[in-house]
Amino acid sequence: MTDGAFTYEDGRVEPGERADIRFTVSETYLGDPVRVPVSIINGEHDGPTVFLSAAIHGDELNGIEVVREVAHDWPHGNLHGTLVCMPVVNVPAFMAQQRYLPVYDRDLNRSFPGRSGSTSSQRIAKRLFENFIEPCDVGIDFHTSTRGRTNILHVRAEMDDPGVDRLARSFGSNVVIDTAGSEGTLRREATRTGVPTITVEMGEAHRFQRKLIDRAIDGVASVLAEYEFYPAEPVDWPGWRTIVSSDEKTWLRADVGGLVEMHVRRGSLVEEGDRVCTITNPFKTDVVTVEAPFTGLLVGALENPLVYPGNPLCHLVELEDPTLRAIRHDRSGTMPAGPG
Ligand SMILES: [Zn+2]
Repeated sequence: MTDGAFTYEDGRVEPGERADIRFTVSETYLGDPVRVPVSIINGEHDGPTVFLSAAIHGDELNGIEVVREVAHDWPHGNLHGTLVCMPVVNVPAFMAQQRYLPVYDRDLNRSFPGRSGSTSSQRIAKRLFENFIEPCDVGIDFHTSTRGRTNILHVRAEMDDPGVDRLARSFGSNVVIDTAGSEGTLRREATRTGVPTITVEMGEAHRFQRKLIDRAIDGVASVLAEYEFYPAEPVDWPGWRTIVSSDEKTWLRADVGGLVEMHVRRGSLVEEGDRVCTITNPFKTDVVTVEAPFTGLLVGALENPLVYPGNPLCHLVELEDPTLRAIRHDRSGTMPAGPG
């Protein structure tokens, strides 16, 4: 940031201006540019800079709608600060409608902060990182579950970092999973560089899921209110919240191969001993029933009903008593008061 302008490579966006750019990050086999769409909205008033990114995994679409709506449908007249909106980060993977960069199946989300003079994914990551991530104060990176699975809307964040803690809480989701994230992820590397960043996970790949998109947009509004991008807006605190350290979450895995019938829905509270699913073979013999080993919240589940032994069935999160009480209260129609 210099004198309130947002600057990148050859560009500059003055306060009160916006720019919708196509930023070249690589080249195709034909020698054509690979260009990433970026909208930079610099408010008339001073304030922090936030990035919003989606589709680093090219088939994870829900976040695209979140970022586009914030960039193009929201009024920005009273904006205090700058929004850097990247609805489709991994353009080659998006074009191919797959998770990874098509060449050598590289995971762009293991390539940050990137390196020039290295592999194609490292070079792409480097150009994005230095131009649009490092200049920011905070960031939100939108993902969905891996193809064939789904999850409830939740935040992943390294809660030991006070900046990340503030950001994660202000998003206002019911569940926060406390993890540093893998080496090379945008979230981890941005946070290490001093740009506290959270991941928002929501739903399935290859879909626009309107309810989840709307909830995530509310989350972004709440974050922007917390950092006073829109000073008059209220911060949204959920009625209950649980912060789970990553070892308290449990993927229940199949011990047999077969066809899975789920008996509980994503987002439901499952009591210890409840039937979670049954696995059967083509003859419907040898039925295996999987029960919940403890009471918890079903954060994720498979959508594709076919499993090998060892494949994940669902992601169950253990809850502490106050959270359990709050959820039961919540589901009986009354909301507990105050921030959770
Ligand atoms: Zn992802």
